[in-house]
Amino acid sequence: QKKVVLITGCSSGIGLSLAVRLASDPGKNYKVYATMRDLEKKERLLESVKGLHRDTLDVLQMDVTDHSSVLRARDKVQEGHVDILVCNAGVGLMGPLELQEAEVMRSVLEVNLFGTLQTLQAFIPNMKSRREGHILVTGSTGGLHGLPFSEVYCASKFAIEGACESLAVLLQQFNVHVSLIECGPVNTNFLENLQKVELGDSSLDALDPLTRSLYQSFMMHCGSVFQNVAQDTEEIVKVFLEAIESPEPAFRYYTSEAAHPLVKLKTTRLDGLDYIREIGKITFPQDQEESQQDRV
Ligand code: NAD
Repeated sequence: QKKVVLITGCSSGIGLSLAVRLASDPGKNYKVYATMRDLEKKERLLESVKGLHRDTLDVLQMDVTDHSSVLRARDKVQEGHVDILVCNAGVGLMGPLELQEAEVMRSVLEVNLFGTLQTLQAFIPNMKSRREGHILVTGSTGGLHGLPFSEVYCASKFAIEGACESLAVLLQQFNVHVSLIECGPVNTNFLENLQKVELGDSSLDALDPLTRSLYQSFMMHCGSVFQNVAQDTEEIVKVFLEAIESPEPAFRYYTSEAAHPLVKLKTTRLDGLDYIREIGKITFPQDQEESQQDRV
């Protein structure tokens, strides 16, 4: 019998790749409900599966910020239950905090936090009553350690960590597993879709010169990180598969080991300063050199 999988945010990126992989599974082990906010964007997904998988793929409209849309999608699942729920929809935001508009900050929390929470609310009761299920959430290393100019995004992803850990404690009593797939930079539309204050933006003129130069330095750092170490979605999908296929899934999976030293630094000194100093050196390397030169 096929495992029923429902994934959010499947019009691009990780969600799209995961939906394609599971729907094309050689053993036909999965029935995938690939959901997306805007069905007009379904062509990429359908082209990727080449129309061969009518019995393993269904595309449904679901905006995670719209409660009725979440319930409508859930009620369209023909099997009447979901074995594997993947909360993947998310958006990014980058820029100096004092320039972020309240509405934009709220919209990021609406998708990343409340969208995920209300998706979970819709599917948990059935998993509980069946005493079976696996919830996977696309996490971010930005949910494990803070990054400059990413306060709102990190807040949303830290919040997800707390929500998932809380839920996992309860759901283990129901034989329902919760797994976070912690991703570092991934080559997706994420950077393009990310709302950010561009370097040439006139709003930056209102900032003090040091913040402006640190932001420039951070943007360069991000650009080179994405260019040099970003993973492809196929690598991320492999980690999802490992979690999905495991009889005893872990709570956290890491798609690469790159973040391990940073995460460990957070616990070497409980006052948190080791991490904060280290990430400053990494994210503002130029300023580091300059301030060292100043000291010479
Ligand atoms: P992406 O922008 O390609 O995909 C995000 C998807 O979420 C898009 O299809 C988008 O349409 C969808 N989405 C946005 N708002 C939605 C809403 N209200 N309802 C339903 N869907 C909505 O980027 P991605 O990298 O594939 O992102 C997927 C997840 O991975 C996100 O949660 C993101 O935070 C996380 N992540 C990405 C990276 C990265 O570097 N790309 C790193 C760590 C974590």
